[in-house]
Formats: sequence, structure tokens, C-alpha cells
Amino acid sequence: MKTIKGFDKKLLAWFDQHGRHDLPWQTERSPYRVWVSEIMLQQTQVTTVIPYFERFMARFPDITTLATAKLDEVLHLWTGLGYYARARNLHKAAGMVHDHHKGMLPVEFDEVIALPGIGRSTAGAILAQSLGQRHPILDGNVKRVLTRLHAIEGWPVKKDIENTLWQLAEDYTPTSRLADYTQAIMDLGATLCRRGKPDCPACPFNQHCQARQQDSVHLFPTPKARKVLPVKQTRMLLLQDQQGQFLLQQRPPAGIWGGLWSFPECSLETDIEQWCAIELGLNIDVDQHQEILRHTFSHYHLDIHPIRATLKNHTDRVMEDVASVWYNTRQPEALGLPGPVRQMLENLS
Ligand code: SF4
Repeated sequence: MKTIKGFDKKLLAWFDQHGRHDLPWQTERSPYRVWVSEIMLQQTQVTTVIPYFERFMARFPDITTLATAKLDEVLHLWTGLGYYARARNLHKAAGMVHDHHKGMLPVEFDEVIALPGIGRSTAGAILAQSLGQRHPILDGNVKRVLTRLHAIEGWPVKKDIENTLWQLAEDYTPTSRLADYTQAIMDLGATLCRRGKPDCPACPFNQHCQARQQDSVHLFPTPKARKVLPVKQTRMLLLQDQQGQFLLQQRPPAGIWGGLWSFPECSLETDIEQWCAIELGLNIDVDQHQEILRHTFSHYHLDIHPIRATLKNHTDRVMEDVASVWYNTRQPEALGLPGPVRQMLENLS
């Protein structure tokens, strides 16, 4: 595919004047800091990430501190960012770096990409931004820019389209100023070539952009064919003891919200008082049903039917094969909570 001449120079000239130069992970571009920022930025916008990144760095300033911390604490600092597999993988990868690389992120591309949660684009972004190595990147922002510049049709996740985009990304990647170039192409996508309302008049490539020439910017990138998401139902038990604490249980490590703490769950048909007596060894009084809360995952909607209940007599006897806590909303423990659970606890306190 024919590329735009002098692309990198034009992009860097724009970046020098209009790009972002004071993001927290740019002020000290260590491999660890760039790594954490890249993981947080997957699926999440910069403005949301900044406070999370700063709290994370204050608590886990280096890989060893992260590797030796409890997963619960890592998940706690991730609460609200979503996509918790990112946090679990980050923690796991930090452990591997600590055990096999003396606590230093490896500098070889193949070793970086072998770590959990790090794909080709993320590995390239880490090594380019922290060490100036030459690797192309192809995150969501870059895919959007390239599909528009070259009017490439087809869902960009499809293998053949993705291969075309990787080739273009490779062709455009310069041999110098790799850290700046990598930030620049991400900035172009995030600040000008936005998903909605791109600012084409301010774009340094508006004379070259094929989608703009065809007046079809809004058609790129081609979206995935929409399918109707299925709806699943669950009952969550908001069980309070006499001290006003709520019972939370830790979810299994794999699956949705893996390792996070959530309210006990059962199906809608279950007799909740009987279920509590048998499954949890607790006698309860059901108080009231609450409004249904919908949470949408990438592959289904989950309709949560919360039900409030009170413990008749306090007892520590809860299901022994599931980790449980009585959670005090006034003095909350540092636990990782799924977004809807955190929201319900906030409404209850
Ligand atoms: S001209 Fe518009 S659509 Fe084309 S790359 Fe620039 S911002 Fe994106």
C-alpha cells in the first residue's frame, strides 16, 4: 500500500507543538512506569487513568513491591478501572520478572511479549517509549488513524485487515525519536482523530487522508457486525449483621470478576432463607427486594436482582470453602470490588 511521504516528520512536528508532554509516565519514562501506564490505558482513557496510575505508583513504586504485594491489594487499587484480568496479569507478570529477571523488566522484545497480559503492541510501546527501541505499535488509536488515512475497509480485528495495518505501522515507524513517535501517533488518535467528531481541520494529514477526501470519515474503522447481547440474571444477597456490616465472598480466581469480593449470589428461583441456612449456615430475615441493576460485559448483560436481608444472630459460621468477610462500609478493608458491588455498597452506606 502506498504510504504518505514524510509521515513521521510531519507527525513529530505536530507532536512537538500540540502533543501531550506532561503525562505522569512521561516525566520519568522507566520501563516499569510505562508498562503500568500501557496496561491501564488498554480500554481506558488517559484522564481516567491518571489518578489510578498515581495511586498505584505511590503504593507500588517498583516491580519488587508489586510482585510481593497481595493480589487483593492490587485489585483494590484497580477497583473502578474495570477489566480486572489486566490487574491479575500485571501482578502475575511482576512476580515472574521478580523471580526470573532480578526485578528488572527484560529489554528483549521476545521476553517482554512472553509476560502475561502483554501483546505485540503493548510490548512495542513499552520498549519504544522507555528505551527508544524501534517497534511499531497498533493500539485502538493507531488502528483508527490508519484505517481512516488509507480508507481501509473491514473490521480491524480481522486477521487480514490487522496484517495490513501492522505492515503500515511498520512502514511508518521511524528510526529515531521512537519514544516521541510512539506517543505522537497515540496522541493523534486520542486528541484529533477521535472516534466521534474528529478534528480534521487541525490534522497535519488532512490533505492526504483518503477517508476525508471521500467524505467518509464516519465509516472508519468498520465496526464489528453487531449482535444482540444475551441477558443473564443473578440474585445478590445484601446481608447485613447487627453491626451493619455486609457479607462479602471472594470470587474464584478465573471467570468474571475473578478474585474480587462480591455479595453472595444465587439464582432467582431460590428460596433465599432456606439457601442461606443450608449454604451459609446463617439464619436471616429477608427485608426487601431492590431495583434491578444492569451491568454490561463485552459478551452479555448481567441483570442483578439485589435483595436486602438481616442476620438473625451473628455467627462466624459461613461457607468454609469460600473466603468471606463482614465488610464495614465505614471502615472499609482494602479489597478489590467489582464496579456494581462498589456502587451498591456506596448506596447502602
Ligand atoms: S484528516 Fe481527520 S480522519 Fe483523517 S487522519 Fe486526520 S483527523 Fe483522522
